[in-house]
Amino acid sequence: DRIISGEPKVSEFHHDRAIRPQSLSEYIGQPIVREQMEIFIQAAKQRNEALDHSLIFGPPGLGKTTLANIIANEMGVEIKTTSGPVLERAGDLAALLTNLSEGDVLFIDEIHRLSPAIEEVLYPAMEDYQLDIMIGEGPAARSIKIEIPPFTLIGATTRAGLLTSPLRDRFGIVQRLEFYDIKSLTSIVSRSAEKLGIEMDQAGSYEVARRSRGTPRIANRLLRRVRDVAQVSGELCVGQEIAQKALDMLSVDSQGFDHLDRRMLLTMIEKFDGRPVGLDNIAAAIGEDRDTIEDVVEPFLIQQGFIMRTPRGRQVTKRAYEHFNYQLPSDLT
Ligand code: ADP
Repeated sequence: DRIISGEPKVSEFHHDRAIRPQSLSEYIGQPIVREQMEIFIQAAKQRNEALDHSLIFGPPGLGKTTLANIIANEMGVEIKTTSGPVLERAGDLAALLTNLSEGDVLFIDEIHRLSPAIEEVLYPAMEDYQLDIMIGEGPAARSIKIEIPPFTLIGATTRAGLLTSPLRDRFGIVQRLEFYDIKSLTSIVSRSAEKLGIEMDQAGSYEVARRSRGTPRIANRLLRRVRDVAQVSGELCVGQEIAQKALDMLSVDSQGFDHLDRRMLLTMIEKFDGRPVGLDNIAAAIGEDRDTIEDVVEPFLIQQGFIMRTPRGRQVTKRAYEHFNYQLPSDLT
């Protein structure tokens, strides 16, 4: 249960509603994605067509769901939301698709977790707006075709590589979300503070931003905890000092690392002597799930240059040694 996990927590859903951006102009950062989507949306609207199917990928908490909702808002259509693991039977998908109005968005989160049977149903729906459904069983079974209105499928996934290639090929638009820079995150924290009625100065926002692993969801979560500390300490305005105190208390260090990041880096330094090591070995050594490491822990460490991928496995970099004030082994310099 990491405070700096990018994964959503159920307790955050109602907070989210108050701070989630509703339009592209409120969507902070990701300039390339924003610029492209603005054009694609405008063009589709001018042609009076549904927007092309769009795939959004990026680590958890970077704004995939938010972007999907914004796209629907900007297109002026409804959005229906589901997720890969929830869609178990072809009938579930058929029910969703036949309930769409023309141009609506169907958002499938964790689309890499769709079962092969559901993917089969999705292909003709995406290509020809048609459903091929088997009804009945045994000799009486037959396939029927159902027309569905033109719609936009928006899929979200943490890694594009997890998708089967026939599915990936059916998306006309593919957007990759990047970790946010500190400037954008500072704006996100300031905006959220304002929406939540938290008095906060620029230095306070910056302090939260720089420890948020480039991830808006984490920034918003840390902001709420910082508010608690400020409130209990009787501080009316959150400044740098109180933000720092709160984040130290939460064991989130100056790089936004927590115990899990530190354990992973230290294990790679101390146990594996800074040499390349396979993901499974790291997972076993720190007692953490391989997928969690690959999806949640490692992307930010790689992006920040603390770990690199090599053909022989993951390797810690000079920065990691410096972060812990360790001497770089002479054979690794
Ligand atoms: P994902 O679907 O990628 O896991 P979400 O779309 O649920 O992430 O975003 C997580 C949180 O971060 C939401 O509360 C949202 O308000 C905030 N957020 C995400 N992207 C942005 C952005 N570009 N600008 C401002 N807030 C954002």
